[in-house]
Amino acid sequence: MAIKLFLTAIAICRLIITVGLTLAPTQLLHHLSTHHTDMETVSLDFGRMTRTEPVAVFRPRSAVDVAELVKAATSTVGFTVSARGHGHSINGQAHTSDGVVVEMARRRLRDRNDHTDQFRPRVNFIQQYVDVWGGELWVDVLKSTLVYGLAPKSWTDYLYLTVGGTLSNAGISGQAFNHGPQISNVLELDVVTGKGEIMACSEKKNSELFHAVLGGLGQFGIITRARIALEPAPQRVRWIRVLYNNFTAFTEDQEYLISLHDKGSQKFDYVEGFVIVDEGLINNWRSSFFSPKNPVKISSLGPRARSSNNGDVLYCLEITKNYLEYSDSVDQEVDALLKELDFIPASVFTTDLPYVDFLDRVHKAELKLRSKGLWEVPHPWLNLFIPKSRISEFDQGVFKGILGNKTSGPILIYPMNKHKWDNRTSVVTPNEDVFYLVALLRSALENGEEIQSLKYLTDQNRRILKFCEEAKIGVKQYLPHYTTQQEWIKHFGDKWDHFHKMKMEFDPKHILATGQHIFRPIFNLNADASLR
Ligand code: FAD
Repeated sequence: MAIKLFLTAIAICRLIITVGLTLAPTQLLHHLSTHHTDMETVSLDFGRMTRTEPVAVFRPRSAVDVAELVKAATSTVGFTVSARGHGHSINGQAHTSDGVVVEMARRRLRDRNDHTDQFRPRVNFIQQYVDVWGGELWVDVLKSTLVYGLAPKSWTDYLYLTVGGTLSNAGISGQAFNHGPQISNVLELDVVTGKGEIMACSEKKNSELFHAVLGGLGQFGIITRARIALEPAPQRVRWIRVLYNNFTAFTEDQEYLISLHDKGSQKFDYVEGFVIVDEGLINNWRSSFFSPKNPVKISSLGPRARSSNNGDVLYCLEITKNYLEYSDSVDQEVDALLKELDFIPASVFTTDLPYVDFLDRVHKAELKLRSKGLWEVPHPWLNLFIPKSRISEFDQGVFKGILGNKTSGPILIYPMNKHKWDNRTSVVTPNEDVFYLVALLRSALENGEEIQSLKYLTDQNRRILKFCEEAKIGVKQYLPHYTTQQEWIKHFGDKWDHFHKMKMEFDPKHILATGQHIFRPIFNLNADASLR
């Protein structure tokens, strides 16, 4: 412990001397922090499964500050630099043990009384886009664009994530079948590369960097500005859930609905779904749809649901139709679309709410869980992309097999159209026209039953991955986590050579986002290994 403290102190001194060469010393005091609470905050993430303390925390006031820090990091002393958005990764992806964490989240910068006016979103009403700081939360992007009656087109289910954090992965939700992931809705970026250069990039300008950064897991640069495409914001949402006890009927209907992507108004605007394996309750924490005081029980759904659900699995299709307040056609449009589907007849649940409330639905659930102390617990989440041709095997092997009849959290399943994803970006998806996201969003509880323990859930994740491997299902991890470079090379497949080439071009010293563990860090200021 004493040795660690000594080495850390030396590292900080070297860091401050190095950074001090390029930044005015008075500025430095505002930018770098080793304060206990700052260090503690950035040492943990939403996953709560790893704790990694950096050497210092950096709070920039501009893209130039970020660039100066990165330049200092590439100097002969050298240290690593990890951007941290809202820290909602699962496996320490925004951590570093031998360098500096750059706190990008504008809300946190603002809370520290830093001047963040220059980071405020700027909407261009005529051309329908917004320019935002890379550390802006999506919920704040939404608030700023709604003032103009506009909104981004593609979302994540949860809005308390930063723009830079989701664009480094993909950013998906039930709108992705239609608009593509969030990375398909970006017009321009400003990026601080691993060489400390500030580069603007887009489809037309520095396009290699643009595509590399999108889905690039923070490997090529730190996104300081993103230009996001907007559309006129809907006012209300008709939110519908219907149930299936037949997996084939469920997936056929989902696939039918996403095939309507280019069909004007004759489609739903959002298509998701989830799996219900738990003892008869349809509710889960993510759902503000059913009232917790009045939980919907499968037994209340009539004989067709009950008879085939003796401890078996039900599937819930979740769809929405956006509309304007004065529209009088929403009922007919919804009825016409529902008529084409093959769900259990008695199982239609409908609610109607403002667009913003729908988009912000998971935050409501978060507040409830926080009040019960159930938010800040370990989250061994696993997200997989599965080719359409293998989804029923996955259902048999995992939902009806490995999971048993308890899940400790929601399991999402929904398909997307591959052609809405730009293959030039860094993100990797299965090689089929349609693929599914399966998201196992489970929480571990120390004092719960054994099946809620971290060990049980991580072992189960391992079994699921092993099953996929042995059955050659061809899954790709979303928000991927690997510990060896061999695994990363396999993950990227034929994209690896290009990914590696881009790394050598934009971050040749491998200083950025080392918490992803894709490239071996070449510097090691801190002798104490991370707690990983
Ligand atoms: P962080 O965890 O802080 O960082 C993630 C990675 O991005 C790190 O490697 C970091 O170094 C890098 N990074 C951060 N900021 C920047 C930047 N400005 N420039 C370059 N690199 C950067 N994902 C979905 O797609 N859809 C969902 O519906 C969804 N729902 C979620 C719900 C919850 C409750 C949680 C916890 C996560 C959810 N996610 C979802 C996953 C989420 O999108 C990713 O974990 C995302 O990376 C988190 O964003 P963040 O701002 O917290 O990033």
